Amino acid sequence: MKCQHPGCQRSLVTDCISPKLSEINHFDSLDDYIQAKLIEEGIKYYCPEHCQQYGYCWNCGTYQADRNDIKFRKTGLCRQCSRDNDSA
Ligand SMILES: [Zn+2]
Ligand SMILES: [Zn+2]
Repeated sequence: MKCQHPGCQRSLVTDCISPKLSEINHFDSLDDYIQAKLIEEGIKYYCPEHCQQYGYCWNCGTYQADRNDIKFRKTGLCRQCSRDNDSA
């Protein structure tokens, strides 16, 4: 699996969950083929650099609505992951 950013050759990627996919709260009740289709459309694969560029946390792949969040801009991590990192 390679980063989906055009021209990027990195193969170390994170599964990025699009906001569209994470908004579906009845996901488990959907038919398997619908789930598969949603996952195919809703999950992107980006390297850490492009995760951040597209607004995803490179550690857990969660979409960050506020890309201008200071912590996210600095580390590329969502609040949850940067908190985990701080305590580690
Ligand atoms: Zn990339
Ligand atoms: Zn995260």
